[in-house]
Amino acid sequence: MDLDLLQRTLDELGQPRFRAKQVWEWAARGAAGYDAMTNVPAALREELAARVPFSTLEVEREALAKDGTLKVLFRTADGRPIEAVLMRYRDGRRSICVSSQSGCPLTCTFCATGTMKFGRNLTASEVLDQVLHFRRIEPVDHLVFMGMGEPLMNLDHVLAAVERLPDVGITNRRTGISTVGWVPGIDRLAASPFPVRLALSLHAPEDALRSQIMPVNDRYSIEEVLAACERFYEAKRRQVFVEYVMLKGVNDHHAHAVGLAQLLDPRIYKLNLIPYNPTGSYDGSSRDAIAAFRAVLEEHGLTATVRLTRGQDIDAACGQLAAKAPA
Ligand code: SAH
Repeated sequence: MDLDLLQRTLDELGQPRFRAKQVWEWAARGAAGYDAMTNVPAALREELAARVPFSTLEVEREALAKDGTLKVLFRTADGRPIEAVLMRYRDGRRSICVSSQSGCPLTCTFCATGTMKFGRNLTASEVLDQVLHFRRIEPVDHLVFMGMGEPLMNLDHVLAAVERLPDVGITNRRTGISTVGWVPGIDRLAASPFPVRLALSLHAPEDALRSQIMPVNDRYSIEEVLAACERFYEAKRRQVFVEYVMLKGVNDHHAHAVGLAQLLDPRIYKLNLIPYNPTGSYDGSSRDAIAAFRAVLEEHGLTATVRLTRGQDIDAACGQLAAKAPA
Protein backbone atom coordinates (compact mmCIF):
# COMPACT_ATOMS: atom_id res chain seq x y z
CA MET A 1 0.00 0.00 0.00
CA ASP A 2 1.09 3.57 -0.60
CA LEU A 3 2.51 4.29 2.85
CA ASP A 4 2.74 8.05 2.21
CA LEU A 5 -0.91 8.16 1.20
CA LEU A 6 -1.76 6.08 4.26
CA GLN A 7 0.00 8.56 6.55
CA ARG A 8 -1.61 11.58 4.87
CA THR A 9 -5.04 9.99 5.09
CA LEU A 10 -4.64 9.11 8.76
CA ASP A 11 -3.45 12.68 9.45
CA GLU A 12 -6.47 14.12 7.65
CA LEU A 13 -8.75 11.89 9.67
CA GLY A 14 -7.12 13.13 12.86
CA GLN A 15 -5.94 9.66 13.83
CA PRO A 16 -3.31 9.10 16.53
CA ARG A 17 0.32 8.60 15.45
CA PHE A 18 0.39 4.86 16.21
CA ARG A 19 -2.27 4.02 13.59
CA ALA A 20 0.08 3.94 10.61
CA LYS A 21 2.35 1.51 12.42
CA GLN A 22 -0.59 -0.67 13.38
CA VAL A 23 -1.83 -0.86 9.81
CA TRP A 24 1.67 -1.54 8.44
CA GLU A 25 2.27 -4.32 10.95
CA TRP A 26 -0.87 -6.12 9.87
CA ALA A 27 0.07 -5.78 6.21
CA ALA A 28 3.64 -6.93 6.94
CA ARG A 29 2.32 -10.07 8.63
CA GLY A 30 0.33 -10.99 5.56
CA ALA A 31 -3.16 -9.65 6.32
CA ALA A 32 -5.48 -10.07 3.36
CA GLY A 33 -7.09 -6.64 3.73
CA TYR A 34 -8.13 -3.88 6.12
CA ASP A 35 -10.93 -6.08 7.45
CA ALA A 36 -8.43 -8.33 9.19
CA MET A 37 -7.06 -5.45 11.30
CA THR A 38 -9.05 -6.14 14.43
CA ASN A 39 -7.35 -3.50 16.60
CA VAL A 40 -8.29 -0.76 14.11
CA PRO A 41 -11.83 0.64 14.58
CA ALA A 42 -14.28 -0.73 12.01
CA ALA A 43 -15.32 2.71 10.74
CA LEU A 44 -11.70 3.62 10.12
CA ARG A 45 -11.09 0.34 8.32
CA GLU A 46 -13.93 1.17 5.96
CA GLU A 47 -12.64 4.68 5.40
CA LEU A 48 -9.16 3.35 4.61
CA ALA A 49 -10.52 0.71 2.25
CA ALA A 50 -12.25 3.49 0.30
CA ARG A 51 -9.30 5.89 0.26
CA VAL A 52 -6.06 3.89 0.33
CA PRO A 53 -5.91 0.92 -2.07
CA PHE A 54 -4.60 -2.12 -0.19
CA SER A 55 -1.87 -2.57 -2.82
CA THR A 56 -0.26 -0.10 -5.22
CA LEU A 57 -0.03 -2.97 -7.72
CA GLU A 58 -2.54 -4.99 -9.72
CA VAL A 59 -1.77 -8.58 -10.61
CA GLU A 60 -1.93 -8.97 -14.37
CA ARG A 61 -0.67 -12.51 -14.74
CA GLU A 62 0.66 -15.31 -12.55
CA ALA A 63 2.62 -18.36 -13.66
CA LEU A 64 3.43 -21.36 -11.47
CA ALA A 65 6.34 -23.55 -12.61
CA LYS A 66 6.58 -27.28 -11.97
CA ASP A 67 9.34 -26.63 -9.42
CA GLY A 68 7.06 -24.36 -7.37
CA THR A 69 8.51 -21.09 -8.65
CA LEU A 70 5.79 -18.47 -8.85
CA LYS A 71 6.22 -15.53 -11.16
CA VAL A 72 3.91 -12.54 -11.14
CA LEU A 73 3.48 -9.76 -13.65
CA PHE A 74 2.09 -6.66 -11.95
CA ARG A 75 0.94 -3.26 -13.20
CA THR A 76 1.53 -0.09 -11.27
CA ALA A 77 -1.36 2.37 -10.88
CA ASP A 78 -0.01 4.28 -13.91
CA GLY A 79 0.10 1.10 -15.98
CA ARG A 80 3.81 0.21 -15.85
CA PRO A 81 4.66 -3.50 -16.01
CA ILE A 82 6.90 -5.05 -13.34
CA GLU A 83 7.71 -8.60 -12.37
CA ALA A 84 8.61 -10.47 -9.22
CA VAL A 85 9.32 -14.13 -8.51
CA LEU A 86 8.94 -16.38 -5.49
CA MET A 87 11.41 -19.26 -5.39
CA ARG A 88 10.63 -22.20 -3.14
CA TYR A 89 13.54 -24.42 -2.14
CA ARG A 90 13.48 -27.93 -0.74
CA ASP A 91 15.17 -26.87 2.48
CA GLY A 92 12.21 -24.60 3.16
CA ARG A 93 13.83 -21.35 2.11
CA ARG A 94 11.48 -18.90 0.43
CA SER A 95 13.28 -16.33 -1.63
CA ILE A 96 11.74 -13.41 -3.47
CA CYS A 97 13.25 -11.67 -6.46
CA VAL A 98 11.91 -8.12 -6.83
CA SER A 99 12.11 -5.31 -9.37
CA SER A 100 13.40 -1.85 -8.49
CA GLN A 101 12.42 -0.14 -11.74
CA SER A 102 9.91 -0.70 -14.54
CA GLY A 103 12.19 -1.36 -17.47
CA CYS A 104 15.83 -0.38 -17.10
CA PRO A 105 17.88 2.56 -18.39
CA LEU A 106 20.87 0.27 -18.97
CA THR A 107 21.10 -1.84 -22.10
CA CYS A 108 22.86 -5.07 -21.22
CA THR A 109 22.72 -6.95 -24.50
CA PHE A 110 21.71 -10.36 -23.11
CA CYS A 111 18.92 -9.12 -20.83
CA ALA A 112 15.25 -9.02 -21.79
CA THR A 113 14.62 -5.99 -19.57
CA GLY A 114 17.50 -4.16 -21.24
CA THR A 115 15.65 -4.32 -24.55
CA MET A 116 12.49 -2.72 -23.11
CA LYS A 117 11.99 1.01 -22.83
CA PHE A 118 12.82 2.42 -19.42
CA GLY A 119 9.67 3.32 -17.50
CA ARG A 120 10.50 4.80 -14.13
CA ASN A 121 11.87 4.15 -10.67
CA LEU A 122 9.56 2.27 -8.37
CA THR A 123 8.61 3.77 -5.01
CA ALA A 124 9.45 1.97 -1.76
CA SER A 125 5.77 1.05 -1.43
CA GLU A 126 5.77 -0.51 -4.90
CA VAL A 127 8.80 -2.60 -3.96
CA LEU A 128 7.15 -3.66 -0.70
CA ASP A 129 3.86 -4.50 -2.40
CA GLN A 130 5.66 -7.08 -4.55
CA VAL A 131 6.88 -8.68 -1.33
CA LEU A 132 3.53 -8.44 0.45
CA HIS A 133 1.81 -10.18 -2.44
CA PHE A 134 3.90 -13.28 -1.72
CA ARG A 135 3.77 -12.81 2.06
CA ARG A 136 -0.03 -13.15 1.84
CA ILE A 137 0.55 -16.62 0.33
CA GLU A 138 3.21 -17.85 2.77
CA PRO A 139 6.04 -16.74 5.07
CA VAL A 140 9.16 -15.54 3.24
CA ASP A 141 12.73 -15.14 4.47
CA HIS A 142 15.15 -14.12 1.69
CA LEU A 143 15.08 -11.43 -0.95
CA VAL A 144 17.19 -10.27 -3.86
CA PHE A 145 16.92 -7.18 -6.00
CA MET A 146 17.51 -9.15 -9.18
CA GLY A 147 14.31 -8.42 -11.03
CA MET A 148 13.87 -5.58 -13.47
CA GLY A 149 15.97 -2.47 -13.13
CA GLU A 150 19.19 -1.28 -11.57
CA PRO A 151 18.60 -0.95 -7.81
CA LEU A 152 21.58 1.31 -7.22
CA MET A 153 20.08 3.90 -9.57
CA ASN A 154 17.03 4.02 -7.30
CA LEU A 155 18.78 3.67 -3.99
CA ASP A 156 16.67 5.95 -1.79
CA HIS A 157 13.51 3.99 -2.52
CA VAL A 158 15.33 0.67 -2.39
CA LEU A 159 16.77 1.43 1.06
CA ALA A 160 13.43 2.70 2.34
CA ALA A 161 12.01 -0.70 1.39
CA VAL A 162 15.02 -2.56 2.84
CA GLU A 163 14.43 -0.82 6.15
CA ARG A 164 10.92 -2.27 6.40
CA LEU A 165 11.68 -5.78 5.14
CA PRO A 166 12.54 -7.17 8.59
CA ASP A 167 8.90 -6.51 9.60
CA VAL A 168 7.90 -8.87 6.77
CA GLY A 169 10.36 -11.55 7.96
CA ILE A 170 13.35 -10.74 5.77
CA THR A 171 16.39 -9.53 7.70
CA ASN A 172 18.90 -7.20 6.08
CA ARG A 173 21.50 -9.98 6.17
CA ARG A 174 19.17 -12.07 4.02
CA THR A 175 18.64 -9.22 1.56
CA GLY A 176 20.81 -9.00 -1.53
CA ILE A 177 21.26 -6.11 -3.92
CA SER A 178 22.56 -6.89 -7.38
CA THR A 179 24.22 -4.22 -9.50
CA VAL A 180 25.83 -3.75 -12.88
CA GLY A 181 28.57 -1.94 -10.98
CA TRP A 182 27.07 1.51 -10.46
CA VAL A 183 30.00 2.91 -8.51
CA PRO A 184 28.39 5.86 -6.67
CA GLY A 185 25.59 3.54 -5.54
CA ILE A 186 28.05 0.93 -4.24
CA ASP A 187 29.75 3.61 -2.17
CA ARG A 188 26.45 4.89 -0.80
CA LEU A 189 25.42 1.38 0.08
CA ALA A 190 28.73 0.82 1.86
CA ALA A 191 28.08 3.96 3.91
CA SER A 192 24.49 2.95 4.76
CA PRO A 193 23.72 1.26 8.07
CA PHE A 194 22.17 -1.83 6.43
CA PRO A 195 24.18 -5.09 6.52
CA VAL A 196 22.89 -6.26 3.13
CA ARG A 197 24.69 -8.48 0.66
CA LEU A 198 26.16 -7.02 -2.50
CA ALA A 199 26.16 -8.92 -5.80
CA LEU A 200 28.06 -7.66 -8.82
CA SER A 201 27.07 -8.61 -12.37
CA LEU A 202 30.51 -8.91 -13.94
CA HIS A 203 30.07 -11.20 -16.96
CA ALA A 204 33.56 -10.63 -18.41
CA PRO A 205 37.12 -10.42 -17.09
CA GLU A 206 38.29 -7.62 -19.41
CA ASP A 207 36.93 -4.24 -20.42
CA ALA A 208 36.57 -4.65 -24.18
CA LEU A 209 34.40 -7.75 -23.84
CA ARG A 210 32.49 -6.39 -20.87
CA SER A 211 31.66 -3.17 -22.73
CA GLN A 212 30.36 -5.22 -25.62
CA ILE A 213 28.08 -7.23 -23.32
CA MET A 214 27.24 -4.36 -20.93
CA PRO A 215 27.61 -0.84 -22.36
CA VAL A 216 27.59 0.61 -18.82
CA ASN A 217 31.18 -0.63 -18.58
CA ASP A 218 32.22 2.37 -20.72
CA ARG A 219 31.17 4.54 -17.82
CA TYR A 220 32.65 2.50 -14.95
CA SER A 221 35.53 0.21 -15.89
CA ILE A 222 36.17 -3.15 -14.28
CA GLU A 223 39.00 -1.66 -12.25
CA GLU A 224 36.80 1.11 -10.84
CA VAL A 225 33.94 -1.27 -10.11
CA LEU A 226 36.12 -3.79 -8.29
CA ALA A 227 37.77 -1.00 -6.29
CA ALA A 228 34.27 0.06 -5.15
CA CYS A 229 33.38 -3.54 -4.24
CA GLU A 230 36.53 -3.77 -2.19
CA ARG A 231 35.60 -0.58 -0.33
CA PHE A 232 32.21 -2.17 0.34
CA TYR A 233 33.95 -5.26 1.68
CA GLU A 234 36.17 -3.16 3.96
CA ALA A 235 33.13 -1.29 5.29
CA LYS A 236 30.82 -4.29 5.78
CA ARG A 237 33.13 -7.26 6.06
CA ARG A 238 30.75 -9.21 3.87
CA GLN A 239 31.86 -11.16 0.83
CA VAL A 240 30.72 -9.88 -2.54
CA PHE A 241 29.00 -12.27 -4.92
CA VAL A 242 30.08 -12.03 -8.52
CA GLU A 243 27.43 -13.05 -11.00
CA TYR A 244 28.64 -14.36 -14.31
CA VAL A 245 26.11 -15.30 -16.94
CA MET A 246 27.53 -18.03 -19.17
CA LEU A 247 27.26 -17.09 -22.85
CA LYS A 248 28.34 -19.76 -25.30
CA GLY A 249 31.49 -18.87 -27.23
CA VAL A 250 31.45 -15.32 -25.82
CA ASN A 251 32.72 -15.32 -22.23
CA ASP A 252 33.09 -19.03 -21.43
CA HIS A 253 36.60 -19.84 -22.69
CA HIS A 254 39.36 -21.25 -20.53
CA ALA A 255 41.22 -17.93 -20.80
CA HIS A 256 38.19 -16.08 -19.36
CA ALA A 257 38.20 -18.30 -16.31
CA VAL A 258 41.92 -17.71 -15.82
CA GLY A 259 41.33 -13.97 -16.28
CA LEU A 260 38.69 -14.01 -13.54
CA ALA A 261 41.00 -15.88 -11.21
CA GLN A 262 43.65 -13.21 -11.72
CA LEU A 263 41.16 -10.42 -11.12
CA LEU A 264 39.27 -11.63 -8.05
CA ASP A 265 40.64 -12.03 -4.54
CA PRO A 266 39.09 -15.22 -3.13
CA ARG A 267 38.88 -13.67 0.33
CA ILE A 268 36.52 -11.00 -1.01
CA TYR A 269 34.64 -12.62 -3.88
CA LYS A 270 32.56 -15.71 -4.47
CA LEU A 271 31.45 -16.54 -7.97
CA ASN A 272 28.01 -17.55 -9.04
CA LEU A 273 27.90 -18.92 -12.58
CA ILE A 274 24.50 -18.37 -14.14
CA PRO A 275 23.21 -20.65 -16.90
CA TYR A 276 21.85 -18.28 -19.53
CA ASN A 277 18.11 -18.19 -19.96
CA PRO A 278 17.98 -17.49 -23.70
CA THR A 279 16.08 -14.30 -24.50
CA GLY A 280 17.43 -13.52 -27.94
CA SER A 281 20.87 -12.66 -29.18
CA TYR A 282 23.02 -15.28 -27.40
CA ASP A 283 23.13 -19.00 -26.73
CA GLY A 284 23.80 -20.33 -23.28
CA SER A 285 26.95 -22.35 -22.52
CA SER A 286 26.38 -26.08 -22.18
CA ARG A 287 26.36 -27.76 -18.77
CA ASP A 288 29.71 -29.32 -19.54
CA ALA A 289 31.23 -25.98 -20.52
CA ILE A 290 29.96 -24.45 -17.28
CA ALA A 291 31.38 -27.34 -15.24
CA ALA A 292 34.78 -27.03 -16.96
CA PHE A 293 34.80 -23.26 -16.38
CA ARG A 294 34.01 -23.78 -12.76
CA ALA A 295 36.80 -26.33 -12.38
CA VAL A 296 39.37 -23.81 -13.65
CA LEU A 297 38.15 -21.22 -11.14
CA GLU A 298 38.34 -23.68 -8.29
CA GLU A 299 41.84 -24.79 -9.30
CA HIS A 300 42.82 -21.16 -8.84
CA GLY A 301 41.33 -21.04 -5.35
CA LEU A 302 38.06 -19.25 -6.10
CA THR A 303 34.76 -20.53 -4.77
CA ALA A 304 32.28 -20.89 -7.59
CA THR A 305 28.75 -22.22 -7.57
CA VAL A 306 26.41 -22.83 -10.47
CA ARG A 307 23.04 -21.23 -10.04
CA LEU A 308 20.09 -23.59 -10.10
CA THR A 309 17.80 -22.73 -12.94
CA ARG A 310 14.33 -22.19 -11.65
CA GLY A 311 11.04 -21.69 -13.38
CA GLN A 312 12.37 -22.27 -16.89
CA ASP A 313 9.00 -23.39 -18.14
CA ILE A 314 7.44 -20.01 -17.21
CA ASP A 315 9.83 -17.41 -18.68
CA ALA A 316 11.22 -16.59 -15.26
CA ALA A 317 14.35 -14.80 -16.49
CA CYS A 318 14.73 -11.11 -15.83
CA GLY A 319 12.22 -9.13 -17.88
CA GLN A 320 10.95 -12.06 -19.88
CA LEU A 321 7.29 -11.78 -18.93
CA ALA A 322 7.10 -8.02 -19.01
CA ALA A 323 8.93 -7.83 -22.32
CA LYS A 324 6.14 -9.94 -23.82
CA ALA A 325 3.31 -7.98 -22.26
CA PRO A 326 1.74 -5.12 -24.17
CA ALA A 327 3.29 -1.80 -23.13
N1 SAH B 1 20.59 -4.49 -12.73
C1 SAH B 1 21.00 -5.45 -11.74
C2 SAH B 1 19.88 -6.35 -11.25
C3 SAH B 1 18.96 -6.97 -12.28
S1 SAH B 1 19.56 -8.33 -13.26
C4 SAH B 1 22.14 -6.29 -12.26
O1 SAH B 1 22.42 -6.23 -13.46
O2 SAH B 1 22.78 -6.96 -11.47
C5 SAH B 1 19.86 -9.62 -12.12
C6 SAH B 1 20.78 -10.70 -12.68
O3 SAH B 1 20.13 -11.46 -13.72
C7 SAH B 1 22.04 -10.12 -13.32
O4 SAH B 1 23.19 -10.79 -12.90
C8 SAH B 1 21.78 -10.35 -14.79
O5 SAH B 1 23.00 -10.40 -15.46
C9 SAH B 1 21.02 -11.64 -14.79
N2 SAH B 1 20.28 -11.91 -16.03
C10 SAH B 1 19.60 -11.04 -16.80
N3 SAH B 1 19.05 -11.65 -17.86
C11 SAH B 1 19.37 -12.95 -17.77
C12 SAH B 1 19.11 -14.11 -18.57
N4 SAH B 1 18.37 -14.02 -19.67
N5 SAH B 1 19.61 -15.30 -18.16
C13 SAH B 1 20.35 -15.39 -17.04
N6 SAH B 1 20.64 -14.34 -16.24
C14 SAH B 1 20.17 -13.14 -16.61
